[in-house]
Amino acid sequence: MTRQIPVLDGWWSGGDDPALLGHRCTTCQTITFPFRRITCPNPECEGDEFDTVELSRVGTIWSYTDARYQPPPPYVGVGQDDFVPFAQAAVELGPEALVILGQVAAGYTVDQLEVGMKVELVVEPLYVDDASGDERTTYRWRPVGIEAATEAPPLPRLAADPAATAAPAGTSGP
Ligand SMILES: [Zn+2]
Repeated sequence: MTRQIPVLDGWWSGGDDPALLGHRCTTCQTITFPFRRITCPNPECEGDEFDTVELSRVGTIWSYTDARYQPPPPYVGVGQDDFVPFAQAAVELGPEALVILGQVAAGYTVDQLEVGMKVELVVEPLYVDDASGDERTTYRWRPVGIEAATEAPPLPRLAADPAATAAPAGTSGP
């Protein structure tokens, strides 16, 4: 059986209902994603301790676009000739007051997206590690209640990269 290994450690939970993992300040409850601060992002708070919390699995599209050119590193590149355009969405999670960028699930096109559309977090294979045969996975946003317009493109096979913690495109916090 093919192993599935996240391209990033600690960004999302496993299982059938994966969720992104945020960090909640124990002082003021502000939630951060991804975790990249040593102090709370709230300028009125001096907290520096955080609990790991699962973020909402369903959000609404706040904005979207498509990537027609291969993004620069740390995007895991396949070469412009083999690059398949993909849609990406900025998704608002109401309870957390966060907007989180991510790719849209494989097979969905930008024409299918609308602002305000409900999307659900899924974890999908991004590429196959050519050395080990492992599938490396990333989180994506999948529109709720509509079918993908096309089949998922074949997974690229990439040589194992010692810096294999490369980020999927468009992963940054608000
Ligand atoms: Zn705080």
